[in-house]
Amino acid sequence: MSENHERILEAKHVTKKYSAPGGRTLTANSDINLCMYRGRTLGVVGESGCGKSTFMRMVLSLEEPTEGEILYRGKNITKLKGEKLRQHRQNIQMVFQDPSEAFNPKMKIMDIVCEPLLNFKRIKQSEKEQAARRLLEMVELPGDFAYRYPHNMSGGQRQRVGIARALALEPEIIICDEATSALDVSVQKTIIELLVRLQREKNIAYGFICHDIALVQSLAHQVAVMYLGNIVEILPGERIGAGSLHPYTRGLMGAIFDLKMDFSKPIESIEGEVPSPLDMPEGCPFQNRCRQCMEICRKEKPLLRTVSEDHQVACHLYGEGRQI
Ligand code: ADP
Ligand code: MG
Repeated sequence: MSENHERILEAKHVTKKYSAPGGRTLTANSDINLCMYRGRTLGVVGESGCGKSTFMRMVLSLEEPTEGEILYRGKNITKLKGEKLRQHRQNIQMVFQDPSEAFNPKMKIMDIVCEPLLNFKRIKQSEKEQAARRLLEMVELPGDFAYRYPHNMSGGQRQRVGIARALALEPEIIICDEATSALDVSVQKTIIELLVRLQREKNIAYGFICHDIALVQSLAHQVAVMYLGNIVEILPGERIGAGSLHPYTRGLMGAIFDLKMDFSKPIESIEGEVPSPLDMPEGCPFQNRCRQCMEICRKEKPLLRTVSEDHQVACHLYGEGRQI
């Protein structure tokens, strides 16, 4: 993928720390390095609290990294301010998890989907109805929905409106943070099909966070597995089942007994508990739960290392000179 696809976003050594009560520091993201490619989906998986949303908020320029930088088309976007930041926001949009909370209930659908276009003066007020109809049709909703209010729609329809709004400015990247998790499975399936079709037609890159690992597996061209603020493995979705190497990823895969596996619940096939992000261990973040933990794992943090094409893993088992 790295060779055949255009790189549009690159996270370099991105770390995010929050101050916590008692003068302590919470490390939500630790030295994240990854790329997003045009027209491709990056899936991010890992247990609740591992730092997925934090990372995506930085990609969306909603928060600034404490260290490191994020490049969009080679340009550092982490320090953008004022009008430059406002203009840049057109490139990276998001679909909210629960559109019923994200939308102003007093606004008509046409005002909701056209708001970004009006903000950036891409259309005039007089062109609003037509633009709204065009956007609604893109997400397979009748043009007449432009005159409705959010409460007159189903959850799935509202999520389509959320996607239409995200599409309005023709962004290169759309972030979907649990964007389909609140929907019924059958509705979720139709939304996913829509996202896949839109990606094919418009060459959009998705940053896709989802609890359902089977879904991510089928959808994501690359999956980043996060644990305690770290990326422990990156590999193509289709290879995560049989080809993953990191003991944590393998544990996650072993834990999937039904397709609705929910990461927000403890994972029983992996013993022990996730350490607190207030108390990052020295060495490998997964050491206390890893059955293959070695002496070096307690001292030295393993770095992400390329083990084969499109596959990187941060684990001393696969360190320099070791067999895979
Ligand atoms: P995920 O999306 O994977 O569930 P988050 O990125 O939301 O995880 O959170 C990662 C860690 O950072 C958690 O421990 C969370 O409590 C903490 N965190 C997130 N946002 C903030 C914040 N604004 N202030 C302090 N801590 C935060
Ligand atoms: Mg989250």
